[in-house]
Amino acid sequence: MSSEAPRGTGTLLIVSSPSGAGKTTLCTKLRAEFPSIGFSVSYTTRPPRPGEEDGVHYHFVTKDRFQEMAADDEFAEYALVHGNMYGTAARQVGDALAAGRDLLFDIDFQGGRQLRQRFPDSVVLVFILPPSLRELEQRLRRRATDADEVIARRLKVARSEMAHYDEYDYLIVNDDLDTAYDALRAIYVAALHQRPRLAHRARALLEGQEALPW
Ligand code: 5GP
Repeated sequence: MSSEAPRGTGTLLIVSSPSGAGKTTLCTKLRAEFPSIGFSVSYTTRPPRPGEEDGVHYHFVTKDRFQEMAADDEFAEYALVHGNMYGTAARQVGDALAAGRDLLFDIDFQGGRQLRQRFPDSVVLVFILPPSLRELEQRLRRRATDADEVIARRLKVARSEMAHYDEYDYLIVNDDLDTAYDALRAIYVAALHQRPRLAHRARALLEGQEALPW
């Protein structure tokens, strides 16, 4: 199958999980295999971690700037997560949908909920679960980019984040990375084949048009 997204309605593929469940690795793999999916680069008031680039991983902004953007209605969604503000630019989502392009979001349940309310026909929500809380803690410690107290706080909120599993369309338990990736890939490929995405092809066939390039 071509990795080129068919013309038509774009999908907003939202992937959430507690930190350390492997969401970033899974999203990176999906983007590598399907370069036509855009990645929604969020705005945040959190300071950059080592290796993070402004405009690539996040748009890093001050609290004042974030508040200004929120007041000007520039966010499709925003939320307070782990003590920092995070938000998705409305223009980024609007541009993708207008062009029929897919967008991948690494955002939390509050953001997923807001985007579902705003774009109910375009959103697919996926939640990545760790195999166990013990494994989650080990993964956070191995990563060790955060201070101990940050890890402790994230573990505490991991439980409350997972409690929102019932707002998601799909759950993936990330026990084995390859198996978890197969599931995420299958969900995306299924989204590419939802009727609204390909209805124009059916209509073209029924109208007797020759095979089209899209
Ligand atoms: P981190 O600081 O570790 O990069 O991200 C912390 C959490 O914020 C993650 O769960 C991530 O999914 C979430 N997050 C990142 N960007 C956004 C956003 O734009 N909106 C919302 N609601 N959550 C976000």
